[in-house]
Amino acid sequence: MSGAHVIENGAAHSRRPIQEPAPRQAILQAPGRLELRSFTLPVPGPGEILLEVRCALSCGTDLKTWRRGHPMFSLPTPFGHEFSGVVAALGEGVERFRVGDGVMAAPTAPCGRCFFCLREQENLCADAVGRMLMGAYADFILLPAHIVARNTFRKPSMLSFEEAALLEPMACVVHAHEMAKPHRGESALIVGAGPFGLLHLLVLRAAGVREIVIAGHGERRLRWAGELGADRVLDAARSDAAAEIARLNGGFGPDLVIEATGKLDGWHDALARVRRGGRVIFFGGCPANTALNVDTRRMHYDNLTLLAPFHYRTRDVRRALDLLSERRLGVGRIVNGHRRLSELSEVFAMLDRGEMLKCAVIP
Ligand SMILES: [Zn+2]
Ligand SMILES: [Zn+2]
Repeated sequence: MSGAHVIENGAAHSRRPIQEPAPRQAILQAPGRLELRSFTLPVPGPGEILLEVRCALSCGTDLKTWRRGHPMFSLPTPFGHEFSGVVAALGEGVERFRVGDGVMAAPTAPCGRCFFCLREQENLCADAVGRMLMGAYADFILLPAHIVARNTFRKPSMLSFEEAALLEPMACVVHAHEMAKPHRGESALIVGAGPFGLLHLLVLRAAGVREIVIAGHGERRLRWAGELGADRVLDAARSDAAAEIARLNGGFGPDLVIEATGKLDGWHDALARVRRGGRVIFFGGCPANTALNVDTRRMHYDNLTLLAPFHYRTRDVRRALDLLSERRLGVGRIVNGHRRLSELSEVFAMLDRGEMLKCAVIP
């Protein structure tokens, strides 16, 4: 069970009166400097939805951006991209939703028409990559028409707003697993015990993977990995960690290695640990201008399969929605902090110190 704050869906009538106090929106002014400012509620245009945010989740991408900015977003920027909420107002032509509906959405959507979209690689669509919706740390967020049309869904009533807000990270994980196709009986190693590493753990577990080992850093994170059901948790800083991993799977090493650190060292570690004939998923994007060093002899004669999934496709979002709706993974457990929007600066200071995995920010 998640420690979710389950908030009632509310009937289909207008929400809290749209007047004082003025709605707030968090702006990341500069690395480390978040401000909550009041803003005028936009009136949704054709195809758009004004959503009253019920939950926004912190994400590793947010933390990276808070620490040092991000090549894809210029500062100052509205902040936060994992969210769920309730429809406050509908633009012209939106037929699938009513005011008062609980809603979950991915923060991007593909165009559906370009070269990549026509080849079912919507994750590479310029719209999916370049038009990410930011501004979920707020009382309200305006969903643009292209996201409403393709990646916005009514929240099943069984699902808490907190679980519903996991749609985007879940879609990224689903995409990676669709490429790697983990199966029962396999031995898997996850490199990195952050929120994404642990989300991979829960999805692998549900897929029936026999043995799941996590190698990571930090006492708290390793403890959380154990609590979420890793068969074994290894402190990556220990000098014997590599030898322990080599002993897995009857001494052959893991069949599947998932890199979830977004650091070049993590990529090299993942590559070094996989067994002959095994698969590596390079999941976490590294800083710009980093290069992976691959021994061609090992790559060829050990018959390695190296996979580098990026973002998610429309079908991954649907599958993520199904997985979340089934509620058997217990993904809500990844969210182990709860704070008010007014405490957002403190949230990032805590994430920076590794005191929370993922935080639900509730307006
Ligand atoms: Zn995210
Ligand atoms: Zn496209």
